Amino acid sequence: MELLEQRILKDGVVKAGNVLKVDSFLNHQIDIGLMNEIGKEFKRLFSDIEITKIFTIEASGIAIAAITAQYFGVPLVFAKKSRSINLEGSVYSTRIESFTHKRVYDVIVSKKYLSEDDKVLVIDDFLANGCAADGLIDLIDESGAALQGVGIVIEKGFQDGGRRLREKGIRVESLAIVDSMDDATGEIVFRH
Ligand code: 5GP
Repeated sequence: MELLEQRILKDGVVKAGNVLKVDSFLNHQIDIGLMNEIGKEFKRLFSDIEITKIFTIEASGIAIAAITAQYFGVPLVFAKKSRSINLEGSVYSTRIESFTHKRVYDVIVSKKYLSEDDKVLVIDDFLANGCAADGLIDLIDESGAALQGVGIVIEKGFQDGGRRLREKGIRVESLAIVDSMDDATGEIVFRH
């Protein structure tokens, strides 16, 4: 997505440890005009499949997924990071290792909001090692819902997540794929 790539080149900052900071338009301050174009593009890319729920994880995924859900005309459900696994059996739960925060979260979603009748599109801001996506897919599997695809705003193609998901036969559509980036020069190279 040309508009997104241009914005990453203009405002993205490459940090040590393979982290791309996009706080000025995606992860802290949010450019709603750009989110709108992103939502439209996900709708175009997944227009051939039935979707009943958009599914993401708090916090950064929510804004993107909300605008995307509006284009699909379906609810957005987000998985919550939880301090304690609910033992009453009213939630599906899994564990996710955070790439940016280097810690493990318990993640839950209420059984009320994902069911075997659902056809789910996962949306997230970044795909790196794929731990967040794996966790969301675990929750979908537990619920018996069907995973229809994964839509990612920025995939870091030099990390393993995208390849692993695609090898499992999962349809992954990334709006920008970073092939390499260099924190010394600030250079970012996209895959086309
Ligand atoms: P993964 O679970 O695929 O390793 O990482 C995905 C999650 O980590 C995303 O939801 C995102 O919040 C965060 N993340 C991974 N890499 C980056 C990065 O380079 N920049 C930012 N801002 N977040 C990242």
